[in-house]
Amino acid sequence: MPLIVQKYGGTSVGSTERIIAVAKKIIAAKSQGNDIVVVVSAMSGETNRLVSLAKEIAESPNAREFDVLLATGEQVTISLLSMALAEQGCPARSYTGGQVSILTDNVHNKARILEITDKKIHNDLNQGKVVVVAGFQGIDVEGNITTLGRGGSDTTAVALAAALKADECQIYTDVDGVYTTDPRVVPDARRLEQICFEEMLEMASLGSKVLQIRSVEFASKYNVPLRVLSSFEDGNGTLIKMENDKMEKALISGIAFSRDEAKLTLIGVKDSPGIAAHILTPISEANVEVDMIIQNKGKNNTTDFTFTVHRNDYAKALNTLTNLSKELEVKEILGDDKIVKISLVGVGMRSHAGIASTMFKTLADEGINIQMISTSEIKISVIVNEKYLELGVRSLHTAFDLEKV
Ligand code: ASP
Ligand code: MG
Repeated sequence: MPLIVQKYGGTSVGSTERIIAVAKKIIAAKSQGNDIVVVVSAMSGETNRLVSLAKEIAESPNAREFDVLLATGEQVTISLLSMALAEQGCPARSYTGGQVSILTDNVHNKARILEITDKKIHNDLNQGKVVVVAGFQGIDVEGNITTLGRGGSDTTAVALAAALKADECQIYTDVDGVYTTDPRVVPDARRLEQICFEEMLEMASLGSKVLQIRSVEFASKYNVPLRVLSSFEDGNGTLIKMENDKMEKALISGIAFSRDEAKLTLIGVKDSPGIAAHILTPISEANVEVDMIIQNKGKNNTTDFTFTVHRNDYAKALNTLTNLSKELEVKEILGDDKIVKISLVGVGMRSHAGIASTMFKTLADEGINIQMISTSEIKISVIVNEKYLELGVRSLHTAFDLEKV
């Protein structure tokens, strides 16, 4: 029998009515002749509620106890869903992460899954039961409860699908698939039937929030076909899988963007070996992640050095640079936290020249100045002023015919 792992996110199980509706969906999938393992998140808002309870008591709560607290959200939904299934005549059994031995390392609050023991699950499936597993949590070798980081239920689902060699891992959420870009910005954005892992990874890391990045990495590593679909409406959703010859190879699959960017520029730093490390080591020691980096051609033994960071880290990065400025003998430090990143993503780019120039010309025709550019095999990103985000994304969507199939 085909085995499907289904994951329902917080909004999909946000009320008892929703949980009853999800039980109906599960039973429908089972009655089509599939074995079903379900992973659920906490009811929407619940994990945030637990986080704020902890913060009322301690500014930085003890990591182990924090996990004990956060893991409770999912325990509520596994039990309620199993009850709802039983009420509708479908035998079901719920398990916490620890009970099905989702063994993780001991890094509390962002643990990584090491191993899953699937014996119990197979026994239940063989008895015709639906197995309902709490997402987002596991247990370390010493039996401590761990959690996998916010949004971690996606990762639980994919890891279970990999361990059980499931035929498909279906992620039910409040959107009906992966779109060419955010439909709130481009109303005629189109749902993609298929996209490959590499593209999805780029889209996810560039700001498309449909799936947790780690879950896509996991799916790609173990080659688990992933499908994103809506728990509110019927539809095929978007299938994410390994690239193959039969896949329609659009030049561009999607446009991702991120509003949370900031950049810092050092004017007139010494142009000598070691300078980039000298600037960026303290930045990484301050736990600030750097994205794009540009160093200009030097003149008179000095050069300008620019990099981007997440907007939340802007103040921290600026502070770190200011403290360094004596040592580095920089002339001036400039900062701008009113920038955004727009990226074109598509494996079709590999075999086609001219995508970049079409992109740049489209932006130029709209009078949009490009401040920084970075490219990879399947992606081109530009940094522009934040006021051009919507215009930029819309004009690129049209220029690359993304609304058309
Ligand atoms: N409940 C957890 C969170 O809100 C995990 C998840 O929903 O995936 O982050
Ligand atoms: Mg979630």
